[in-house]
Amino acid sequence: MQDKFDFSDLLAKSPITPIRLELDDTFEFNCHKGIACFNKCCQSIDITLTPYDVLRLKNHLGLKSFEFLHQHTVPFEMDGHGMPGLKLKTRDDTMACQFVTDEGCSVYADRPTACRYYALGMMSMRAKDSPSDEDHYFIVKEDHCLGHFEPKSQTIRAYRTEQGVDVHDEMNREWRQIVLKKRSCGPTIGKPSDRSFQLFFMCSYDLDSFREFIKSPSFQTVYEVGSDLMDTLMADEVELMKFGFRFLKQALFGENIIPVKPDALEKRAARKRMVIEQQRQDLRRETEAGAPPDSSGK
Ligand code: SF4
Ligand code: SF4
Repeated sequence: MQDKFDFSDLLAKSPITPIRLELDDTFEFNCHKGIACFNKCCQSIDITLTPYDVLRLKNHLGLKSFEFLHQHTVPFEMDGHGMPGLKLKTRDDTMACQFVTDEGCSVYADRPTACRYYALGMMSMRAKDSPSDEDHYFIVKEDHCLGHFEPKSQTIRAYRTEQGVDVHDEMNREWRQIVLKKRSCGPTIGKPSDRSFQLFFMCSYDLDSFREFIKSPSFQTVYEVGSDLMDTLMADEVELMKFGFRFLKQALFGENIIPVKPDALEKRAARKRMVIEQQRQDLRRETEAGAPPDSSGK
């Protein structure tokens, strides 16, 4: 099973030229347990995970974020600047998914977005002067997949609903916009900082760390988050994830979404200046202490 989001990837690997389909177009496809190729698509995977995939999977497995990331994912760079992405880990000895069993997918109810899309590919485009993206679809035909020869016709819309793609796309949409914007900003403003990638990783994939971060003094002294919202963020991981996207937009692109406390930025800048001055003084003292005596013997 291949990642379903990268259209160039799809073009390179698909043996057929994709035909653009819209939501009410129909296609022939059926996947079911009795089919001869059952599980074949899970034997050689290359699946990019989204934040909502990570949230659903870690909860399905009863794991903390860092446990899930460590046990079930492999980091990769999503672009030439090193924007951090995650792939679903395969087994040690093969390219098979860790979650495939003889009975099928062991995490089926919470399987990743890419698995739900199969055998469709999707591409989002924004027309010039349009305020929103338009989604277009393509059929992905791989030799091992016999589902394309099954006599079941359905619209793209019906297939998306049946597979639960709508919910995942809605949850991931804002994040995908951030990824696209960050990528397109890269060459014009230079290489993004390591700090921006660390924030991106935490907000995207490590919700437990992000929860601790927004409770910390370094966040609380700068941002104005009311107690009702704070209670919601502590209790609801989906809301926490969405808040993380808003925080990313503010931190990476300077969008004013989360209110900042009066004088907070000035105070933080003053604290930073104090730290830098302290470091300068420490360095000067160390240099003087280690300097050899001058020729006068003083
Ligand atoms: S998560 Fe499930 S559907 Fe997706 S590749 Fe693994 S076993 Fe297959
Ligand atoms: S029909 Fe295609 S998607 Fe379904 S099990 Fe077979 S290879 Fe996988």
